[in-house]
Amino acid sequence: MRRYQLYIDGQWLDSAGGWFDAVNPFDGAAWALIPRGTTDDVERAVSAARRAFESGDWPTLTPTARGALLRKLGDLIAADAARLAEIETRDNGKLYVEMHKQLAYVPQWFHYFGGLADKIEGAVFPTDKADTLNYSRHEPLGVVAAITAWNSPLLLAAYKLAPALAAGNTVVLKPSEHASASSLEFARLVEQAGFPPGVVNVITGFGSEIGDALTGHPDVRKVTFTGSEGTGRHINEVAAADFKRVTLELGGKSPNIVFEDADLEQAATGAVAAFLAASGQTCVAGSRLLIQDSVYDEVIERVLSIAAGVRVGDPMSPECQVGPIATQPQLEKVKRYIDIARDEGAHCALGGGVPERPELARGWFVEPTIFTGVTSAMRIAQEEVFGPVLAVLRFSTDEDAIRIANDVRYGLAAGIWTRNIPRAINLANRLQAGTVWINTYRMVSYMTPFGGFKASGIGRENGADAIKEFMQVKSIWLNTGQSTSNPFVIR
Ligand code: NDP
Repeated sequence: MRRYQLYIDGQWLDSAGGWFDAVNPFDGAAWALIPRGTTDDVERAVSAARRAFESGDWPTLTPTARGALLRKLGDLIAADAARLAEIETRDNGKLYVEMHKQLAYVPQWFHYFGGLADKIEGAVFPTDKADTLNYSRHEPLGVVAAITAWNSPLLLAAYKLAPALAAGNTVVLKPSEHASASSLEFARLVEQAGFPPGVVNVITGFGSEIGDALTGHPDVRKVTFTGSEGTGRHINEVAAADFKRVTLELGGKSPNIVFEDADLEQAATGAVAAFLAASGQTCVAGSRLLIQDSVYDEVIERVLSIAAGVRVGDPMSPECQVGPIATQPQLEKVKRYIDIARDEGAHCALGGGVPERPELARGWFVEPTIFTGVTSAMRIAQEEVFGPVLAVLRFSTDEDAIRIANDVRYGLAAGIWTRNIPRAINLANRLQAGTVWINTYRMVSYMTPFGGFKASGIGRENGADAIKEFMQVKSIWLNTGQSTSNPFVIR
């Protein structure tokens, strides 16, 4: 078994905490040993990041040179994409074809933000004071703690690290204990790209043991996090004590809304992919399906038929469409929600159990599951399951659809299926969601802002403005004359 080390201050180190197993969700087998970082490791990593921010080569590197380093890192990831994808699939059970596509896409973040590094301009302000020059600079914040979830470890790391580094910050990255290996492999590429020591540090371990030491560390100036609402709330509280900035990308209960004037086959296929992609383990999963009354029977029939034919199996196989659940606790959580939905009176129209095929017996699988007869008040319509479970609701009018769609704590994403473009635009404007897809679903890009309304989070990732989330503005005043005004009075 491969035994990994932590990457701190440009060095590969064992942790005094020892190691824990990386486990493959497809067969339950341990396949690597991951360092169980300690609070001392956190201290080491944050100190290294602070030193690298304040001294050495990094702070004096021109933004153009920083950008070149980022682009080189992107190239190295591109060359290694297939191997990194295989590691992520082994760790989180997501389809290899999806992880490969993701990893082949991740370099774009480093290329895009690398290109942006030397394009962040301050301003010269007009001034109402005589003999004064007043201008601004965008400066980096300092040490950034980046905490990622298991579902897309390096894609989420790219969302965070590419803009943070382009802005001139230094970073301590802590991946999920359930999928840590690819982040340590990524550190190898950071080293190869030639980043100065301490600019990027990767520590692994249990969030419950080292999370607070990292997010509460006085030298950390920003925490950028993807994960659950509960952990996000806790991090927000810890960070607030020190006035740290936060970007939080939390969960969702995203609606897919199918109108009678939609291309119904396209909508049904889109709705199935939206709740089953990544076995439902994505923050943007279309976990609620809202169908207009007049086409309800036709749409639900198509949805059930498409979902029943989905190929569940080995995520490494190119034929597979739905893999296992990433972790055992997550599997238990999904099963619990299936029980809850039944208890609430929803009708289980598909699945609801674990597949009985012997070749899947050792993996953490749940059948694609669809509940009909769901009302908005039910927990299955309100709470994030993070599994292949769909809650189907009905609506009659546009107003109805908007009311039901917005009737949740979350606001990450939404899908609209209609051929009526004015209707689509009107709805898109009124949906409480950070992303709205019309006649498509689950598109993201390094160029497009991504983030949540309401309990789905704070801040935006991706897009040109994301770099400013890792910068602070300084205003500089210069006296260009011999002003005689009274210095004891505000000018
Ligand atoms: P968590 O929110 O617990 O984990 C996300 C990250 O936070 C992990 O790296 C985790 O480390 C870390 N973490 C945990 N505790 C702390 C802490 N006190 N301080 C700092 N970091 C901490 O999510 P889970 O992995 O437990 O998943 C649970 C649920 O979260 C899912 O069922 C799903 O609903 C939601 N989720 C949402 C995601 C999204 O994309 N928005 C992604 C993943 C999960 P460690 O793994 O070591 O605990």
